[in-house]
Amino acid sequence: EEWKDRGAAVSLRREVDAEGRTIIKSVKKGVRDFSFGRILGEGSYSTVFLATDRQTLREYAIKVLEKKHIIKENKIKYVNIERDTLNRLTEHPGIVRLYYTFQDETSLYYVLDLCTGGELLGVLKKTGSFDVECTRFYGAQILDAIAYMHSRGVIHRDLKPENVLLDDQMHVKITDFGTAKLLPDPRNPPPPEDPMRQNGSRHDERNASFVGTAEYVSPELLTDKAVGKPSDLWAFGCIIYQLLVGRPPFKAPTEYLTFQKIVSLEYEFPPGFPPAARDLVERCLVLDPARRLTVEHIRNHEFFDGQQFGPELWRTKAPRLR
Ligand code: ATP
Repeated sequence: EEWKDRGAAVSLRREVDAEGRTIIKSVKKGVRDFSFGRILGEGSYSTVFLATDRQTLREYAIKVLEKKHIIKENKIKYVNIERDTLNRLTEHPGIVRLYYTFQDETSLYYVLDLCTGGELLGVLKKTGSFDVECTRFYGAQILDAIAYMHSRGVIHRDLKPENVLLDDQMHVKITDFGTAKLLPDPRNPPPPEDPMRQNGSRHDERNASFVGTAEYVSPELLTDKAVGKPSDLWAFGCIIYQLLVGRPPFKAPTEYLTFQKIVSLEYEFPPGFPPAARDLVERCLVLDPARRLTVEHIRNHEFFDGQQFGPELWRTKAPRLR
């Protein structure tokens, strides 16, 4: 029951019945419909394989999660959040798409967009840092994906260059929604909630433990345990800084020291940091989430002057990395 396949997708199969008539059957995809190739990467609870749909020959990344391990580590909630979130975010090129989910006795399988370009972090490490043109392009794609997820009531909560994957065109695909927060879907509102449950959920929120990664966590999460859309834009500011400098703005030997730097806004721009980018970062890294730039403000910021957003941005060729 815990693994209910709510988001399961089916494929249509053409068959000929006993009387020679062509019928279309909907068949749920399963492990046997894919041939598994090399391992693309491993996470703490998962292994990601390259896989090919035997019927269409289309390639995917399949994330395999071992049920026993997930139960033992108490991660059922996160696994389900990831599936539910990805099932809500299927219409944007900047988000890793979940095509099918299925399971067998031992494992859960998530069939995902294949990202052959690896992590943005890996690319950044190779080049050291990005120039303004690359930062503007990748910044714009990340922002466009954030705008879409926020419009669907999803707060990512763990945005960082490791969670930004790149496809074969070197375009952005955001991943890792296991710690996302789901707000009521503005396009598909749920039935009115049972008033008896409201206290319960509020209580839950206040006691929410730290999720995310120390270097990108917003000050409001550290001081008030409050997370909202602005928290993702704090992380966006950290990412823009990191792309231009090669390291995140808040970095210390321990998590605790990193948190101290964040809540006291202790960071510096190295000499030569581009002025328009500096102004953008300074307006994203604002302690009060209510005074931080919104997605709309950022799109209109001078740093993105002349930059396309929306569908046209995803038809643009990625700049050569420098
Ligand atoms: P952890 O769970 O420890 O935080 P993680 O979130 O990176 O790790 P996964 O999402 O399972 O774990 O990813 C494991 C590895 O597989 C990652 O290093 C990632 O680069 C790679 N990977 C994940 N998804 C894809 C994909 N769609 N295409 C290509 N590679 C992927």
